[in-house]
Amino acid sequence: MKINRSIRMGIGVMAIAVVASACGGAGEQRSALQSASDGSLVVGIKYDQPGLGLRNPDGSFSGFDVEVAKYVADKLGVAPENITFKESPSAQRETLIENGEVDFVAATYSITDARKESVDFAGPYFVAGQSLLVKSDNADITGPESLNDGKKLCSVSGSTPAQTVKDKYAHDVQLQEFDTYSACVEALRNGAVDAVTTDDIILAGYAAQYPGELKVVGEPFTEERYGIGVAKGDAEARSQINDAIDEMIADGSWERAFNDTVGASGYQLPTPPTVDRY
Ligand code: GLU
Repeated sequence: MKINRSIRMGIGVMAIAVVASACGGAGEQRSALQSASDGSLVVGIKYDQPGLGLRNPDGSFSGFDVEVAKYVADKLGVAPENITFKESPSAQRETLIENGEVDFVAATYSITDARKESVDFAGPYFVAGQSLLVKSDNADITGPESLNDGKKLCSVSGSTPAQTVKDKYAHDVQLQEFDTYSACVEALRNGAVDAVTTDDIILAGYAAQYPGELKVVGEPFTEERYGIGVAKGDAEARSQINDAIDEMIADGSWERAFNDTVGASGYQLPTPPTVDRY
C-alpha cells in the first residue's frame, strides 16, 4: 500500500517534470503568438539600466523598454499583469530566445546581421548611438579618438559597443568586459576604469543617477537600432510586433513612454524610426 503510493507520487513528479521541460526549459524556441493566445508572455529585459529596463527595489519594473514590451503585449492580447519579465544580460539574449526561455526580448538590443543568424527582429523602435561615460572632472577623454595611452575602458560582453572597440580601437585601449553596465559604472566610480562605453541613451540614465559625478562625452559614433528579438523564422510574430510598434508611434504612446522614462535623464526626444519589414 505504502509502496504503491510512493510509486504513484513518483510518476506524478515525473509527469510534472516532463510538462515543465515542454514549456521551454533548455528546450526549443517558443512561439510568442502561441504564448500570447495562451494568455501570458515571458519578456526579456535589462534589470539595471535606469530609464530603459530597471527592476525597482519594490520588485516592479520601469523604463522605455518595459513600456514598449507592455504596449506590444497589449496588442497581442496580453495584460501587463500576465507578463513575466526575465533578466536578459547582453551576452545571453540570443540563447534565451533560442532556448525558449523568453517569448521576446526588449533589452536595448541592437539589430545586427550577426545576431540575425540566430534570432529575428521586429523594429527598430529606437535608434541610439555608442558614446562614452567618464567622471565629471575628466578632461582628457572627449571621444573614441582620445582613448589612447592604454586607457581602461569598460563595456559588456556580448554587446555591440564592446565589439566595436575590439574592431576599431583595440590598439589604443585596454577593454574590460563585465556582465552588466551597472558593474562598469561601479568600476568607473571607484576609479578601476577610466570610461564606460555603450549606447548614449543608456549612459544618459547612469549620468542622471549620479549628477555632478558622471558625464557623457563626445558625439555618438555608431548607430544602434533597437529591435525586439523573436524566435528565428517566426515571421508572423515579427509582423504583428512591427504593427504594434507602428501603432505605438502613431498614437502618441511612443513619445509619452519616452518622456515618462528616458525623459528624466535630459536625453533629447529623437524622431521615431520607421520599422524595417525585412
Ligand atoms: N545596443 C547594444 C547591444 O545590443 C548595447 C546595449 C546592450 O548591451 O544592451 O549590444
